[in-house]
Amino acid sequence: MLPFIPKRAYFEREALNYPLGRNIYYKLQEMGVDVNFTTSHNKVLGIPGKTPQEAYMEAKRTLVVGVRKTLEFETCKPSAHYQLPLVTSCIGECEYCYLNTTLGKKPYLRVYVNLDEILERAKKYIEERSPEVTIFEGSATSDPLPVEPYTGALKKTIEFFAIQEKGFFRFVTKFTNIDSLLDAEHGGKTTFRFSINSENIIKKFEHNTPPLEERIRAAKKVALADYHLGFIIGPIFYYPGWKYDYGEMLEKLSLGLSESAKKAIEFELITHRFTARAKKNILAVFPKTKVPLDEEERVFKFGQFGYGKYVYPPDKMRELKEFFELKIREYFPDATLLYFV
Ligand code: SF4
Repeated sequence: MLPFIPKRAYFEREALNYPLGRNIYYKLQEMGVDVNFTTSHNKVLGIPGKTPQEAYMEAKRTLVVGVRKTLEFETCKPSAHYQLPLVTSCIGECEYCYLNTTLGKKPYLRVYVNLDEILERAKKYIEERSPEVTIFEGSATSDPLPVEPYTGALKKTIEFFAIQEKGFFRFVTKFTNIDSLLDAEHGGKTTFRFSINSENIIKKFEHNTPPLEERIRAAKKVALADYHLGFIIGPIFYYPGWKYDYGEMLEKLSLGLSESAKKAIEFELITHRFTARAKKNILAVFPKTKVPLDEEERVFKFGQFGYGKYVYPPDKMRELKEFFELKIREYFPDATLLYFV
């Protein structure tokens, strides 16, 4: 079953010069999706929505197919050297999502048909940094899984990295339509990560995404396909009952994975934080949100690009860190904890 059937699609005419663009075009037409044209994938007019909520929901159901012109990749700390631009935006409707801040009022989905050119550029970055290795992150501005049935971009990218001696690929998803990637020739060069959270947080905030158990089942299959497997736990919220909920989440994960999978996994832990702009955007789209956005309960931290963010105060951060370190050691003694922020 397709995780995503767009309500409407827009194509740049130039996208039809590429076989992938034509394939997507014919597929959408066969499916009866309303297909239109746009002069630029960066500026799409005609997505309906009178209120911020409507605009957001309609954009999340809109697929835009274009040619990626900018082939300069952004840097991507702390998980990689560069972002690999495969997809922009996502069908998920997570109330806390950072894309609510970066993609404006209409975060429509964008896919790029000049994948060969994008990968060619990645190859140049790898050559420039050689003999150092170069790591690329495939989900810095999206969750790339829901559109994979249309583009096959992840599979192609995974197989591209399999033969790059000095290049590695990582991506993360909350989605579970992973079957098409299980037989990819990955050569051990891709780290396949799942983003997980407590069931409570998933139910409350991560709308239109699969439940925890499905994510764990998908992760088990990924490990069986011999991928490096990782988990991003985040955003971690400090709320009444958090210890019980996150303890239960880790226990379920431990029970759901095979012993050999548990030995080699990686964890990345990210606590919840927000900027003033994020708060404004979240409240515009989810006016009744229960995402904790009270500045009084946080400390302000200056960010890398001049804007600051509100993070949990040091005592709460310490408590969270100690808890997760302890529980991860208990359930996954051989796992690697990459970072806690
Ligand atoms: Fe954002 Fe990830 Fe949720 Fe998509 S699944 S809305 S990218 S947090």
